[in-house]
Amino acid sequence: MLRRFLLVASPFLLAVAQAASPRQVAITIDDLPSSEVSLSSEADLAARNARIIAALRGTNAIGFVNENKLEVDGAVSAARLQWLRDWLAAGIALGNHTYNHNGLHATAIADYERSILDGERQLRPLLAEFGQAPRWFRHPYLQAGQEDALRTRLDAFLGEHGYRVAPVTVDNGEWIYARAYLLLRNAGKHDEAQALIPEYIDYLEAKFQFFEQASKRLFGREIAQVLLIHANALNADALPALLERLRRRGYDFVSLEDALADPAYQHADGYRGRAGISWLHRWAMAEHKPKVFYEGEPAVPQPVLDLAGVDGE
Ligand SMILES: [Zn+2]
Repeated sequence: MLRRFLLVASPFLLAVAQAASPRQVAITIDDLPSSEVSLSSEADLAARNARIIAALRGTNAIGFVNENKLEVDGAVSAARLQWLRDWLAAGIALGNHTYNHNGLHATAIADYERSILDGERQLRPLLAEFGQAPRWFRHPYLQAGQEDALRTRLDAFLGEHGYRVAPVTVDNGEWIYARAYLLLRNAGKHDEAQALIPEYIDYLEAKFQFFEQASKRLFGREIAQVLLIHANALNADALPALLERLRRRGYDFVSLEDALADPAYQHADGYRGRAGISWLHRWAMAEHKPKVFYEGEPAVPQPVLDLAGVDGE
């Protein structure tokens, strides 16, 4: 009798177990309309933007805009503005990443605040076309403030203007792969560029594994993650395979708001350093975790750094 019950029940229990704990990640894309405006033709930028939108449709993703990247010869390009409108028309959210992408730690706070407001001159009316208002803010370089007084002032400023900070848990060196990829493409080395895509996807999956483990060590469970990548040629070509890899890893793609509904995001931030590190590590620092907590994070391999002409992460 018992045996029979188990035979009947086990597939059901398995299904319940899977449904109860799907992994969750919010996909966030920085430096819209493109982090490669100076190294690309308008036609290439437009085509990449369309491919990124096509890949992101239905994923609850959000893009973060630098409005100075909308400008050509000092004036906002109507074509580039339309690229952003295409994101909203596809149901993908947009947030503010400052006008000029200056880091908080190298910028006077008044200038930084101005850059946030300058970063919504196009964004606010554009969002209004879709019945939305600016809501999400992402710090350039993830520099969130080294002094408490400055953080308090910035928090108040963001709150007054209706913004919520968009943290990142799966921080990574995707920008280095992206630079290597674009330089190879621009040099006509298409096969070498193509070969970089599976390496990039393996690297990001290793990062996910690392931060899943960090999440378990800190919270005893896997929290809803937030991935940061950029609007670039690499992701225009790699996103479908990357998203498929994440789906196979058990991830559902959720909105930033849904990810941040995870109580983990209420954790105190113990980091006051210069670098742009994962919020999982910022939270760990508030708990004074030992050095070993942070060890084992996958690194960008030296050949990729060399291809990108980058000294380090
Ligand atoms: Zn950025």
